[in-house]
Amino acid sequence: MGRIRILPDAIANKIAAGEVVERPASVVKELLENSLDAGACDLRVDVEAGGRRLIRIADDGSGMLRDDALLAFERHATSKLRTAEDLFSIVTLGFRGEALPSIASVSRLDLETRAREESTGTHIEIAGAKMVRCEEMAREPGTTITVRDLFYNVPARRKFLRSEQTELAHIASLVTHYSLAHIAKSFELVHAGQRLLLVTPVGSRRERVFQVFGDAVLADLVELPDTAHEGFRLTGFVSQPQVQKLNRNSIYLFINGRLIRDKLLHHALTAAYHNLMPPQCFPFALLFVDCPAEEVDVNVHPSKTEVRFQRGSFVHDFVRDAIRRVLVESRPAASLPLAAPPQPAALATPSEFSLLIDTPPAATPHQPRLIIPGAHDLEWPVVSGILPPSPPGGNAPVALSSPARPGTAPPGASSLSGPAPTSLPGLGPTPATARSAIRLPVPDTHGPLPAGAWLDAAVSLDVLADLRVIGQLHDSFIVAAGRDGLWIIDQHVAHERILFEQVLRQSTAGQAHRQPLLIPLVLPLTMGQFIEYPRIAEDLRAIGFDTEPFGARTIAIQSAPAGLAPGEIERSVQEILDVAENELRSATVEELRRGMAASVACRAAIKINTPLDQTKMEWLLQELARTEFPMSCPHGRPIALRYPMRDILKGFHRI
Ligand code: ADP
Ligand code: MG
Repeated sequence: MGRIRILPDAIANKIAAGEVVERPASVVKELLENSLDAGACDLRVDVEAGGRRLIRIADDGSGMLRDDALLAFERHATSKLRTAEDLFSIVTLGFRGEALPSIASVSRLDLETRAREESTGTHIEIAGAKMVRCEEMAREPGTTITVRDLFYNVPARRKFLRSEQTELAHIASLVTHYSLAHIAKSFELVHAGQRLLLVTPVGSRRERVFQVFGDAVLADLVELPDTAHEGFRLTGFVSQPQVQKLNRNSIYLFINGRLIRDKLLHHALTAAYHNLMPPQCFPFALLFVDCPAEEVDVNVHPSKTEVRFQRGSFVHDFVRDAIRRVLVESRPAASLPLAAPPQPAALATPSEFSLLIDTPPAATPHQPRLIIPGAHDLEWPVVSGILPPSPPGGNAPVALSSPARPGTAPPGASSLSGPAPTSLPGLGPTPATARSAIRLPVPDTHGPLPAGAWLDAAVSLDVLADLRVIGQLHDSFIVAAGRDGLWIIDQHVAHERILFEQVLRQSTAGQAHRQPLLIPLVLPLTMGQFIEYPRIAEDLRAIGFDTEPFGARTIAIQSAPAGLAPGEIERSVQEILDVAENELRSATVEELRRGMAASVACRAAIKINTPLDQTKMEWLLQELARTEFPMSCPHGRPIALRYPMRDILKGFHRI
């Protein structure tokens, strides 16, 4: 008798469940996808105990015929695929016919469904892959699937589940993502009776982003213009470079409406922000790529979260260039106050799965800059590690659908409930607070706006050219006035950006400005640098460093880019060689050149603690306004901060 046996279906399903059902959020994902495939417009997700105790998804989709409902739990039973060829033109989210039997094999599952064409519905109950009930029932068309006690029969899996809050955060993140992709449908997420998300159908993605994240986040985002090229289409939102997240959790990628993770697209996104953001930081991005089904293979992984593109490098460059273009064109200005930049030591470990909100390290001293209000409520379980306090007096919904912006108190309220007036030291309490019986009326200061003031929320950095320089702060920052507010410009990074673009332009045109050195500088190299040197000698020459080998492991520098002080020449070349050796081995020629130009620019730029006269400061602003990308220096630090007129007026209670 042979030793090989075919596994019974029950075991095969459990094995498949290992891949398909990793955690409660995977169940939510599969069931949501089924509801969307069934054409549902109204999707409601209920969970209890982070999804371990209960997950219920109710939809108003097509429903299932009685016979189909029974068949749906068979392995490889699907209504979405007929022939092998269909695999290459998949337009539904599901197609493998694995989800329902897999989920049913590791939980107690309850299905209620009614197809529109049948007058009664069907109720099926399954526990650990065994059917315990199947009967007729009266209900509306549509489907409700309840999954209880996930992994009750797989103790090993249960042990791997994280805390209730973490699992809930994964689910919340998932529902949010799907709601962003399907704006014409309504989504509701309720946890233990408390509503965490409710979004109703809207006409534009911008409105949906507002519903989910609120206007403060929306103001930090740049909408990508609808871009199409060779059958590929890209839409979505990306954040301005000053929004710097510590991990990839805020990057949402969709291919043909399918939520995926994809290294190629992540790389394209990072490449678009190259030199605009520090390397360990990530933007917030919501990218929707649409393409003909045959361009992308979705049958790569059982959980259908990975894809393979036929023309990978084309897609990569298309996405990178489209994002880069919009970042360069929008030239958005950052407003004060900005949070402190993340410290490298505090960086979160990149999440294993970008789609899911992961627990950032508790010790992170700096929160990501993009605090998602409204989505606060989605992020809080993760960020604070506690469940939301139950609102007094019951289950009032958390108002995700219409997030209120701080400071939108009704007019008039501000005079009494606004921030206390700053009292000067030594003067004691103000009369109003000392004699509480007498409330001095605050005079109505809501007069006309200062002449010519702009209150626009979004201001382009093109206004830099029109600023009036007021002076210099600590010999390091230029302070300037504009119609839109008060500006502070970091003189070093401003000059760095100007030089960076100049060096890059000149070297590309083969016209680097160079200064010959009277006595060549001799530079000893490490073994690694010496090996790297021949590869970059030509590029060094292009930006103005003429060098040649000079004996064993030594090079002689004969000329350097104009503007580089003698003391900086050696250090700059060293730095370039180090970068070439350590980081840029896999970099493209262009990235290498940009790295070199960044190094030269940083060394040649005006330092901080350098007094500047009025003409120099004005020149800096003029030149900065003419750069392609005045928002951030080549290392990604912000250059100019604006204290918006609106906030100044608000601070003085004038609006
Ligand atoms: P797949 O989605 O890959 O086809 P599933 O196991 O997820 O496989 O689902 C099996 C089948 O059950 C689907 O093909 C579909 O016909 C049916 N089905 C599942 N969920 C729903 C739903 N919410 N509404 C209508 N039909 C559904
Ligand atoms: Mg499915």
